[in-house]
Amino acid sequence: MPPAKLIPICAPHFTGLEAEYVAEAMRTGWISSAGPFLAEFEAAFARSIGVARAEAVCNGTVALHLVLHAIGVGPGDEVVVPSQTFAATASTVRHAGATPVFAEIDRGTWTLDPADVVKKLTARTRAVVPVDLYGLCADVPALRAALEASGRGDVFVLEDAAEAFGAALHGVRAGALGDAGTFSFYGNKTLTTGEGGMITTSREDLADRLRLLKNHGMTKQKRYFHPEVGFNYRMTNLQAAIGLAQLAGEADLIARKQRIHARYRAALAGEPGVALQVVPPGHTFCPWITMLVDEHLGGEAERDALMERLLERGIDSRPMFYPNHLLPAFTEQPDAARGSLPVTEHVSFRGLALPSGAGLTDDEIDRSIEAYLAERPR
Ligand SMILES: *Cc1c(COP(=O)(O)O)cnc(C)c1O
Repeated sequence: MPPAKLIPICAPHFTGLEAEYVAEAMRTGWISSAGPFLAEFEAAFARSIGVARAEAVCNGTVALHLVLHAIGVGPGDEVVVPSQTFAATASTVRHAGATPVFAEIDRGTWTLDPADVVKKLTARTRAVVPVDLYGLCADVPALRAALEASGRGDVFVLEDAAEAFGAALHGVRAGALGDAGTFSFYGNKTLTTGEGGMITTSREDLADRLRLLKNHGMTKQKRYFHPEVGFNYRMTNLQAAIGLAQLAGEADLIARKQRIHARYRAALAGEPGVALQVVPPGHTFCPWITMLVDEHLGGEAERDALMERLLERGIDSRPMFYPNHLLPAFTEQPDAARGSLPVTEHVSFRGLALPSGAGLTDDEIDRSIEAYLAERPR
């Protein structure tokens, strides 16, 4: 029998306006990094998140790097990041010339544990990057309180909201919780522009500096005049056209993500040994993907074998991010901090995500649940 059609992990979902807006950009000749869709997308995005400014960039990785660079993070500095995240959270600290220091996550929410962050602070700590993992906001208010309590209210809080478009904590949207926030619009992210990113902040002076730096460090006042070394991290008007179209479908996109997760939760929450991300009071969860930790799995090899069996049944899945503090990219550095992060190591090797694209039908979700329940170890 031919295998059933693959249910992809996270296919993009379109409103229908995308092609129309891109065609308009083509027709008018605005295909590069200037044009009306860019300004409109930035303004609409800032309104949606509830911040003064949004600066579009070409991906979520450079968004992180640009902020670290703009606030002066450099060689000799340390930046505390969770180990359970996509590697870009930590590699951008390296891009800035600084040292990533890995901290532990909370056992239930899988987001950064403020108490462990405090233990990792040194005189060299310049910033902390809480990650809104899988669409759940990190507890940034608790992190700030912990920093203040340890006399380090000066530490910059950069919220990596790449996975959390649509999420909120106590009514404050993801991307507005820190001193600045960053988003990714990669193809599988909740809101996509193909490749793309955004920086959100209410600090006008920082936003102005980001704007200068992402555009080769060129001033507006004088042609080809560069007060400092900048980057070309600009987004194109074509990507912004897609972004603006996606944003028009924001409410539907968020509702779809939440509905998919609710269906998984209803079916899996009572299963012995299955842990879903804990959503504490005050959180609006906008699940990017439904990640679960299966305590019946002995570790990485068993988890990967389960994912193979799911694939044979036509179900695409993804492992939880590899603990960054164990990655050669970060361990094989002279200044790497060594040590174990037991919670991160435990959940990371037992975690897997089931299909979560906004366009999934109930039938596809049910097939994914059925396959997982049939294949998981008893
Ligand atoms: C996707 C992602 C990024 C990187 O975004 P790109 O647009 O792929 O560069 C950074 N941080 C986290 C947590 C992500 O999930």
